[in-house]
Amino acid sequence: MESARPRIAIVGGGPAGLMAAQRLSAKNFDVALYEAKASFGRKFLLAGRGGLNLTHSEDSKKFIARYGPSATFFQEKLARFSPDDLRSWSEDLGIKTFVGSSGRVFPQTFKASPLLRAWLRRLQEQGVVLQTDCRWQGIKSLPPRDAKPGDAPLELRILNRDGIEFTVIADAILLALGGASWPRMGSDGKWLQSFKQMGVPCTEFQPSNCGFNVSWSESFKQRYAGTALKNLGLTAGGAHAKGEIMIADYGVEGGGVYALGRALRTELRENTQARLVLDLKPDLDRDKIEQRLSSQRTKDSLSSRLRKSIKLAPAAAALLRECHAGTELSSPEQVAAAVKAVPVALTGSQPLERAISSVGGLELDAVNHELMIKNLPGVFVAGEMLDWDAPTGGYLLQGTFATAACAAEGIENWLSVLSSHSGPTSSQ
Ligand SMILES: Cc1cc2nc3c(=O)[nH]c(=O)nc-3n(C[C@H](O)[C@H](O)[C@H](O)COP(=O)(O)OP(=O)(O)OC[C@H]3O[C@@H](n4cnc5c(N)ncnc54)[C@H](O)[C@@H]3O)c2cc1C
Repeated sequence: MESARPRIAIVGGGPAGLMAAQRLSAKNFDVALYEAKASFGRKFLLAGRGGLNLTHSEDSKKFIARYGPSATFFQEKLARFSPDDLRSWSEDLGIKTFVGSSGRVFPQTFKASPLLRAWLRRLQEQGVVLQTDCRWQGIKSLPPRDAKPGDAPLELRILNRDGIEFTVIADAILLALGGASWPRMGSDGKWLQSFKQMGVPCTEFQPSNCGFNVSWSESFKQRYAGTALKNLGLTAGGAHAKGEIMIADYGVEGGGVYALGRALRTELRENTQARLVLDLKPDLDRDKIEQRLSSQRTKDSLSSRLRKSIKLAPAAAALLRECHAGTELSSPEQVAAAVKAVPVALTGSQPLERAISSVGGLELDAVNHELMIKNLPGVFVAGEMLDWDAPTGGYLLQGTFATAACAAEGIENWLSVLSSHSGPTSSQ
């Protein structure tokens, strides 16, 4: 017998889609989740490879500021689903969390797989219909801008693994199709063109939390690619950060660089190069460094003087020489100045395929405050497919979860006028 409960179709089985499915299936809705890949949460599992950084424990003011131009948008979303809510959610699935020394929050299992397994089990217990190998193709007839809940059901076109298209009929749709980084994990951003055709304002994707290219000399690259430099001060385009960088054969990557990604991208849009300035000893001022260098024997090599006087790692000293090539570095004063400002010339960014996240997608102005697309009544969105950006540190998953929780609440409110409704149907 068909259910008389409103039917929700969710497309995209990453953390945003799964979270919305959990919240909606806990209410009086029939929920079906369609995922293009053969399994759910592939990028989530990848994110957990080096330790799944779920969220961050810093105070809410600092936390919200991480979202830069989208901070206002996130203020309300994080009030609805906070970092504490995220931790409670994980613990409710049986996976305790802990705060690392950097303030980042991880599941005690560190990896994502135990959490994902518990999550999928919970969805099954709550009656969510989980469908893999089902690719969303589009919406059949677009709802009029002024459509009200229950006016006419929405029809989704879905292609199954045998290449057969079928129609899913639902009272509301949540799309959680992800961004465009690491397309092998499923989020390939191909949906962007369909949205443009539907007249929904979208911005092209760009890589975020990605490495940047530097023309290293062969000898530097061969010797130091793969080396991490920790506790640096970083400046770009007037923005500052503290953190680490990883020297890569193509250039630089790592948390410190990601934190300045927005400023670097802006500079690269306007110029052929962006300048990243590194302070190799942010906890020592220039005078102190000069003083310590002055007591060194001048016949020692520069590296040796830097190591003995200020404990500078050989890779950092080599970076200083590489980026200050042609600069006079004979006096302690000149060397101290060089230590405090190593200019690294970035010539471009790594491609989307290798970025941790993407910026671009559905513009925030295209949705209302409950994440319903303004010109597609009944169609909601969540997660990385919306055009927002944040550095690594747990802000990406927190933003993803918070938007999913908000869209789920939006759907609930949207459908609250339906006292009863005919149940789900799909025709194949
Ligand atoms: C290497 C790496 C490490 C990361 N580490 C962290 C971390 O530690 N902490 C953190 O906060 N964030 C991290 N992230 C980012 C985090 O994984 C993402 O922000 C998050 O997965 C976004 O969730 P989402 O549900 O919006 O999109 P996704 O996880 O991308 O899920 C979207 C889903 O939609 C499916 N889909 C796409 N198109 C269709 C279609 N047409 N039909 C049906 N299904 C479709 C995709 O197959 C995919 O399963 C990391 C990312 C990477 C790549």
